[in-house]
Amino acid sequence: MRLVFECVECGGHYLPPEGMVYPDGPASPVWCTGCQSAKRAAGVREDPLLARVALAAARAALARRAAEAAEPAARHDVRPSRPPLSRRARSGPGGVRSKLG
Ligand SMILES: [Zn+2]
Repeated sequence: MRLVFECVECGGHYLPPEGMVYPDGPASPVWCTGCQSAKRAAGVREDPLLARVALAAARAALARRAAEAAEPAARHDVRPSRPPLSRRARSGPGGVRSKLG
């Protein structure tokens, strides 16, 4: 399974080789081939922190895809949307219960 990355420069998705190495050098986790060569020509190097974040995001996406692929196909009616957890903590009458009595 190969990782899919999103280029931070052009926003396009790209699929570097599994070993993250192109025939002419290492693949970048933040830039697609086109943007990477343009950056290299301009003398700009990738941000190591950004590269790590991009790598982690790509790994998480791969794990998610693998999990979805492992799911039985019959469950196609299940919606993946779920509300963020923080919404519950902010709304609602907090503390009302404890004031009674
Ligand atoms: Zn790009």
